[in-house]
Amino acid sequence: MIVGVSKESYPGERRVALVPMVVPNLIKAGLEVVVEAGAGVEAGYLDSHYVEKGARILPQRADVFATADVLIQVLCYGSNDITGKADLPLLRRGQVLIGFLRPLGSLEVIQQVAATGVTSFSVELMPRTTRAQSMDALSSMGTICGYKAVLIAADTLPRLFPMLTTAAGTITPARVLIIGAGVAGLQAIATARRLGAVVSAYDMRPASKEQVQSLGGRFVELPIEAKNAQDARGYGTAQDESFYARQRELLMKVVGESDIVITTAVVPGKKAPVLLTEEMVKGMAPGSVILDLAAERGGNCELTQTGKTVVAHGVTIIGRINVATGVPYHASQMYARNITAFLTHLVKGGKLTLDANDEISRDTLLTKDGEIVNQRVREFLSLPALVPQAG
Ligand code: NAD
Repeated sequence: MIVGVSKESYPGERRVALVPMVVPNLIKAGLEVVVEAGAGVEAGYLDSHYVEKGARILPQRADVFATADVLIQVLCYGSNDITGKADLPLLRRGQVLIGFLRPLGSLEVIQQVAATGVTSFSVELMPRTTRAQSMDALSSMGTICGYKAVLIAADTLPRLFPMLTTAAGTITPARVLIIGAGVAGLQAIATARRLGAVVSAYDMRPASKEQVQSLGGRFVELPIEAKNAQDARGYGTAQDESFYARQRELLMKVVGESDIVITTAVVPGKKAPVLLTEEMVKGMAPGSVILDLAAERGGNCELTQTGKTVVAHGVTIIGRINVATGVPYHASQMYARNITAFLTHLVKGGKLTLDANDEISRDTLLTKDGEIVNQRVREFLSLPALVPQAG
């Protein structure tokens, strides 16, 4: 079986789906690896590095698609809504496609992927179990985003982060507030602390309190309780508008006291909740920074403009998307390790095995034989349940 890696085509994307260091593991698992020429260059991985580890370089993108039995991408059509569609005619029935496919996004797009006949696996659907932890690309990219978000915000802030006692006087430390303490939020807390800021964090999942504190953050307690704050998979759940209104009211003071607010609050498949209003932005000191990691999902701040940086009431609001591409070397390395763990789980004796009783392959399988076959996605998109085939 041949595993193919194409160069990412999303504008500005610098990651690559497999890095040279994982090639020997794939070869050991009975797979061959082909890579589009130049696919890893922007992440720091040259063609010669892939060749040294046993991969073959193919000059044309179309050759990679034609040769690969399993095609690995970071942003597949679905998550790549700008140039991804151009890949559809290159895909073929029975070919395996693995990557970010945004399965809870547009029904039309997923139907188009399904219509190619590819057997696609969406990494976003990876179960959050101990067994699947090494394959969890969402967590890997969340880690990268949380780290990079702090660096971007720190670079924008007109103040220093650490407390300094100098001959020119004492500098007080920056105050950073993280809203949403999932994987990205926790990494942001750790990074901001390392830079010397005083860090507070809030999440509606009470379970996050201990994690925030273990990283040296102060947990912001609000006198409201979310209903079933966490779903069975560990994700935050959508709340009603009265809950969000109360949250905004209670967050007002702590937001006003912060130099930087980094927001990461998302609910799978839903528009991100608005947790920062214009009034709250007005309450922040001039020069403060909001970095909205939920910008791609509509944003946690009502003034966020997706993909843009704007200044309102003296506050810089960064709505940058695809933040993980800003650390392409390690983002690619982590993604490649996740995919390698996933592939070596799926491939037995050089052949792809699809075991309906295996939670990992069942939960991530999105399309097969022209159909959207994922039960969770079908329910989410209000598609009728598939009738199990006899035999
Ligand atoms: P996420 O990216 O889905 O959401 C980010 C955070 O926003 C979550 O913590 C969520 O609770 C929070 N949020 C949503 N709405 C909010 C609101 N209105 N107000 C405040 N906060 C709000 O989350 P994630 O990074 O995927 O992590 C969710 C949980 O899953 C974490 O506890 C994480 O440790 C856990 N997890 C477990 C595994 C595993 O067991 N294999 C893997 C990854 C993550």
